Amino acid sequence: MIQYVSNKGGGSPVDFETAILDGFACDGGLYVPTRLPTITHTQLRQWKNLAYVDLAFEILSLFIDRACMTEAELRELLQTAYAPFEKEAIIPIHQLKCRKNLFIMELFHGPTLSFKDVGLAFLVNLVDFFLKRRKEYRTLIVATTGDTGPATAYFTAGKSNLSAWVLYPKGMVTEAQERQMTTLPHSNIHPVGVSNCPDGGDDLDLVIAQLYANKSFKDKVQLSSVNSINWGRILMQTVHYFYGYLKTVDTIGEHVDMAVPSGGFGNLCAGGFARKMGLPVHTFVIANNTNASLHRIFSEGVFSKNAIFETPSSAIDILIPYNFWRYLYFCVAGDAHKIKEWSAAFLSKGSVRFDATTYQEYTKGFLSASISDAATLQLIQEIYASDGYLLDPHGAVALAAADAVKEALGDRKMICLVTAHPAKFPDVITRALHTDSLPEEGRHHSIEKAKNKCEKVYLCSHDHLEEALLDIMNADWDIAHTIKD
Ligand SMILES: *Cc1c(COP(=O)(O)O)cnc(C)c1O
Repeated sequence: MIQYVSNKGGGSPVDFETAILDGFACDGGLYVPTRLPTITHTQLRQWKNLAYVDLAFEILSLFIDRACMTEAELRELLQTAYAPFEKEAIIPIHQLKCRKNLFIMELFHGPTLSFKDVGLAFLVNLVDFFLKRRKEYRTLIVATTGDTGPATAYFTAGKSNLSAWVLYPKGMVTEAQERQMTTLPHSNIHPVGVSNCPDGGDDLDLVIAQLYANKSFKDKVQLSSVNSINWGRILMQTVHYFYGYLKTVDTIGEHVDMAVPSGGFGNLCAGGFARKMGLPVHTFVIANNTNASLHRIFSEGVFSKNAIFETPSSAIDILIPYNFWRYLYFCVAGDAHKIKEWSAAFLSKGSVRFDATTYQEYTKGFLSASISDAATLQLIQEIYASDGYLLDPHGAVALAAADAVKEALGDRKMICLVTAHPAKFPDVITRALHTDSLPEEGRHHSIEKAKNKCEKVYLCSHDHLEEALLDIMNADWDIAHTIKD
């Protein structure tokens, strides 16, 4: 059976349940499977017409030991997780008229309207399932650039064995996203708006790492995370690559290209794994906005951190694509020692240049582009004018990147991953369309409804965030776990 090890080589192999509940490996590394299963064309042919949830069942079954979860339990968990999705297809595919051979994979029909729902629907329900069986509790903490927070809050709300602290950089997420976190009435959900974050969401990740390093606190509140360091997110995200492929191709074995709006490289790490498992993807197009960390890694061979730009595609205003380390592990034949050295060098010097052999290996099958704000806005307008289809800014970055590298690609089908609903970014949409009034396609009833609700939120400055969180999280744990008589 597949086990999980740290990509930095510390500790011993653990089972699926441990990898999920731990989040980070014990040496601070990311869990990676000891091997990736191979999926043959025969299997793909058998899966061609499966519904999303049934396909997810087949793929996850290759990774999850039956001793850890029965077939019936996994099926039920998937049914529960994806029931709140709005479209029966879960992830519908839309074909554009104005671009030949271009298919849009709509990953935003979950309850909080971004692709984060796809991974978190499964992961939060899975964590809850394990905790109930163990009669244990966990305090989840996540940092968000606007979409992880709402999805974590939504799926954790009302769960008896979980609470969630969702940290967001105040003023750097849209009001629609903020209200998705602050208008939930459940007592186990705690949004924290943090002011004065010079590096946006990356600043919050650092504070979370400090809380993790505080062992007595971590053990007391049973701290855990469902951000994309968690293997469960990456695993679940492999499924939509298979699903999109199967729904798009005429014959199994045909190669396609895929463009993905990217920040932390979680989504693309999953895509890379899907291809290593046997999915016929010729080229993945890594779509960055002007925060071009991944573009620098893939075009210059340098992993480095620059100052942050605030862009219309704010969910990918991410400086450190930490899931790249997870993918890289598989490109250096599992040499954990190298991963450990490179990540240490990045931490101490702020930048790492990879050797030519490594560079050649990890760039295989990837192209990248960095898209300007103006190009993003213009494409939203162009596609709306020609097709009546309203892209969100992240989908627009992906499509613009696909356009930018078109010469280097053949005439294969291009599947463009659209990761958010435009209703989450009303100001960007009105700016792009040069209008004061949001068109119908840019609205969503859940966002409208949240405008009339009370907000509940903790506010804090980044300057003393760690101390403030220790205090409030300790107190909240004591209140929630004191037996009342
Ligand atoms: C999180 C997010 C992304 C980026 O995904 P990564 O896994 O961090 O690369 C892209 N688009 C939207 C809308 C997101 O919320």
